Amino acid sequence: MPTGYVHHPHYLWHDTGTSAGLIPAAPLAGVAPGAHIESPDTTRRIHELVHACGLLRDLVPIEPRQATMVELLRVHTGAYVQHLQEQSDLRGGGDAGDGFSPVGRGSAEIARLAAGGLVDLVTAVAEGDVTNGYALLRPPGHHATADTGMGFCLINNIAVAARHAQEELGFARVAVVDVDVHHGNGTQAIFYTDPSVLTISLHQAGCFPPDSGGVEENGAGDGLGYALNVPLPPGSGQAAYLHAMHQVVLPALDRFTPDLILVAAGFDGNAWDPLARQMLCADSYRQIGRLLVDAADRLCHGRLVAAHEGGYNPWYVPHCALAFLEELAGITTPVTDPYAAIAEPYASGPLLPHQREAIDEAAYLVDRIATATNTAA
Ligand SMILES: [Zn+2]
Repeated sequence: MPTGYVHHPHYLWHDTGTSAGLIPAAPLAGVAPGAHIESPDTTRRIHELVHACGLLRDLVPIEPRQATMVELLRVHTGAYVQHLQEQSDLRGGGDAGDGFSPVGRGSAEIARLAAGGLVDLVTAVAEGDVTNGYALLRPPGHHATADTGMGFCLINNIAVAARHAQEELGFARVAVVDVDVHHGNGTQAIFYTDPSVLTISLHQAGCFPPDSGGVEENGAGDGLGYALNVPLPPGSGQAAYLHAMHQVVLPALDRFTPDLILVAAGFDGNAWDPLARQMLCADSYRQIGRLLVDAADRLCHGRLVAAHEGGYNPWYVPHCALAFLEELAGITTPVTDPYAAIAEPYASGPLLPHQREAIDEAAYLVDRIATATNTAA
């Protein structure tokens, strides 16, 4: 069966305004106006590459619609949804809560279109219309918590999709694998006490949010053991990521036996990303993608849905995303990584002792996940 694909022009029209990289322009404080780093450029170039390389014709397009209030309120507080709408209705836009999450005019509706697109993609997978899928959406979601936007994220798309899968599609157990280079703190927080949603985050230690995503954050109450973090040291390359996949992510998925795997697909662990200091190349994302697709085949009839998150190098992220998407679709396009001669040596450094130590610390926690029988059809 084919791979589903969600994209929409409005995703590119989410307006993050004039900023200086991360922060609002403040001329009187010496911060000159410029572009916000979470701009449409990277996402647009991914979509154009998916089209130009010919892959688009083999994907099944799924037209997004706005997530309903019922869908949003499974995850977010009513007060936050109202705040987001009020900010979005302002002529000049506003912020979703932390001062780092710009809301352009109409961004609330666009964020709902992102979440709704992901929900419908999950439904298409559940109904067997597609085997798996990729939602190339903006704004991203994995930092947003129940009651605030954070780190460019307005609505936690993956959390909304996970709850939809459980409440409407009968998938009892959902695993979220977050490979964005920043900690998937919002998704973790939403499911922190819930053993029915396993959250696993591979990220650069101490990058964003600060002081978040340590290995000791392992869930609480009934959810103890069901939040896993692999805080990788800065400078980690492919060997470290693949060691983390084999020592933590795959064993955790095998124990958890999910009915559905959701992937927070951020590509900001690439060696040229401005918002982190990791060393991955496009082929690294291909290998991570292949391992996740294999896990979905083994555990849940191939049901894997990826939601686009971060990735801020406009000329390299598209090749990382394409490599990942090719693995989902099982199709190799004629476009190979044009930067491979430089990027692959960056990525191919050996697994260093301090990286192994960090990963193995997380691996000890995998046994806290109770093995269970997959109960869904
Ligand atoms: Zn990120």
